[in-house]
Amino acid sequence: MTTIRTQLQAVHLRIAQACAIAQRPVPGIALLAVSKAVAADRVREAYACGQRCFGENYVQEALAKIELLGDLRPGIEWHMIGPLQSNKARLVAEHFDWVHSVDRLKLAEQLNTRRPERLAPMNVCLQVNISAEKSKSGLMPEEVSAVAHALDELPRLRLRGLMAIPQPAQTFEAQRGPHRALRELFEALKAQGLSLDTLSMGMSDDLEAAVVEGATVVRVGSAIFGQR
Ligand SMILES: *Cc1c(COP(=O)(O)O)cnc(C)c1O
Repeated sequence: MTTIRTQLQAVHLRIAQACAIAQRPVPGIALLAVSKAVAADRVREAYACGQRCFGENYVQEALAKIELLGDLRPGIEWHMIGPLQSNKARLVAEHFDWVHSVDRLKLAEQLNTRRPERLAPMNVCLQVNISAEKSKSGLMPEEVSAVAHALDELPRLRLRGLMAIPQPAQTFEAQRGPHRALRELFEALKAQGLSLDTLSMGMSDDLEAAVVEGATVVRVGSAIFGQR
C-alpha cells in the first residue's frame, strides 16, 4: 500500500535526483504539498511526516481545513495557489501566509488593505501566463515588470517572486522551455533591482524540468496524495 509517507519520500527523492543533475543544493528547493480535495486528516498525516507547507486552490475548502488544523499553527504554513476573486481577498489576507496567484494589481491592493496588522506582511508571487495561453490566468510576460514594481511599494505585502503553470508537455526538453522563460523573467526583474527569492514552478508531472531550470518551490499534489 502506498502511504503519504512513502509518496512524500518518493517526491523528495525525485527532487534530490533533479538537484544532482542540475548541481544544485537540495535545501534550495521547498516542497509545497498541494492539498486541494484532500481531507484535513490526510493533511495532518503529511504534517506528521514532516511536511509543513500546504497549497490550496479554493478559499472555502481551505478555510474549513485551516480551522480543523488550527492546533498545528504556527508550524503549518498555508499557501493560496488558485485563481482568486477580489471579494475573497479579505479572507485570504486573514488566513494565509502566501498567495502565489496574484495576477492583477487591484487584487494586490485589496490584499494589502486587508492584511491584519497583527500578522507579518503577506508573501506574494505574481502568476505569469508563461505559455501565453488564451483564457488562462496570469499576467502576460510583458505586463509583469510594471505590476511587480507597483506591488513592491505596498507595505503589507512582500513580493517574493513569480509563479507559473506551463502548458503540459510530454518530453523533458519541451517541459524545460517555459520554465526557462519564467526563470529568465525572474532574473530580469532582479536585475531591475527587485529583491526576489522565489520561483514557484513544477508540479507532479514536470518537477524535474522545473528544478533543472531553477525552481525554488515545487507545488506537488497528486504525486503525494494520489489522483484527485
Ligand atoms: C493542482 C495544482 C498543483 C498540483 O498539481 P499536481 O499535478 O497534482 O501535482 C500545482 N499548482 C497549482 C496551481 C494547482 O492548481
